[in-house]
Amino acid sequence: MSSPPVADFISREARFGARNYEPLGVVLSRGEGVFVWDTQGNRYLDCLSAYSAVDQGHCHPKILAAMVEQAGRLTLTSRAFHNDQLAPFYEEIAELTGSHKVLPMNSGAEAVESAIKSVRKWGYEVKGVPDGQAEIIVCANNFHGRTLGIVGFSTDAATREHFGPFAPGFKIIPFGDLAALEDAITPNTVAFLVEPIQGEAGVIIPPAGYFTGVRELCTAHDVMLILDEIQTGLGRTGKLLAEQHEGIEADVTLLGKALSGGFYPVSAVLSNNEVLGTLKPGQHGSTFGGNPLACAVARAALRVLVEEGMIENAAVQGERFLKGLRSIRANTVRDVRGRGLMLAVELNTEAGRARRYCEALQTEGILAKDTHEHTIRFAPPLVITSDQVDWALERIAATLTQDFA
Ligand SMILES: *Cc1c(COP(=O)(O)O)cnc(C)c1O
Repeated sequence: MSSPPVADFISREARFGARNYEPLGVVLSRGEGVFVWDTQGNRYLDCLSAYSAVDQGHCHPKILAAMVEQAGRLTLTSRAFHNDQLAPFYEEIAELTGSHKVLPMNSGAEAVESAIKSVRKWGYEVKGVPDGQAEIIVCANNFHGRTLGIVGFSTDAATREHFGPFAPGFKIIPFGDLAALEDAITPNTVAFLVEPIQGEAGVIIPPAGYFTGVRELCTAHDVMLILDEIQTGLGRTGKLLAEQHEGIEADVTLLGKALSGGFYPVSAVLSNNEVLGTLKPGQHGSTFGGNPLACAVARAALRVLVEEGMIENAAVQGERFLKGLRSIRANTVRDVRGRGLMLAVELNTEAGRARRYCEALQTEGILAKDTHEHTIRFAPPLVITSDQVDWALERIAATLTQDFA
């Protein structure tokens, strides 16, 4: 049985769909572990992992089993009633992350929006900021999602252009600059919202000690530190949370993406008692947030992450991958960055757009995604083996030494 040609799927998508993405010309129909297959049966090593949502590998059998079992029993109750999956989910994620309170949401952007609402409320009701004056500090080149509240404080032109007017109350400072943070804080500052490593900006790692300093400044000025770990969290950087690389603790931690192993949209706001403690019945919610199917899937996703040693594997394979990328001698390469399995190769601008290299990698059996014109990121599922890393490195080296310019 042959499937319709690839071009047919692509042209139908283009005809009927909003064209808010520019995908590579591959149509996928199956996934298992680190691999995906297209409709023609070609196999690829997935080096994007759906932007780190399938960290546990495609179609992980234990998460699948939990999902199927729960889907046949109870999927949605709304929060008007209790369900028997929510309490164990709360307990397990709180214990794993050392958090006191949990707010379940669906997409990552919703978790960010929920955190913004919560810290503002905390600011007015606990810190004593005059009503309507709360300020939140964010970083240039941030990526926190696509909702209106969030794109309003983006510094990326395409993200913002013609979507305004935007909500006030945000101040933008450079990432990795402690003095700028100190200068930006006022008595009305309620929170600093930041990614531990800027993912969409091209895997930008701040200077060592930055987050230790951030933690100190936030504590000294009674400012809630919100770490958006939607991409960096849950093992991606070789630790459960990226904050652990500097031994700090955020006041509010945002998780999403891999929280469901890619099966289902599940996100969460984790906080100390104070911040989420300000929310009272009726003040925030979501029909699907905390539903039993989401909770069962997330519980399984967290369990396999820990029980199958994926976090440790990310640290080991990440180091191997980074070392391999650094040893590639190609004049197309300007910089190589990474922590754990969150890796990026920045190309020289003369090398042309990174997309052409991603298209070349596709023909070599590797799916990777360009970001910001000249950067290729590599973020395979955390279950990748040494042999698979070496296999990928050989093909990446061959591709980067080609000249497309
Ligand atoms: C992906 C991402 C988001 C948004 O998550 P969605 O599920 O796409 O809404 C927010 N913050 C960071 C750091 C992300 O990588």
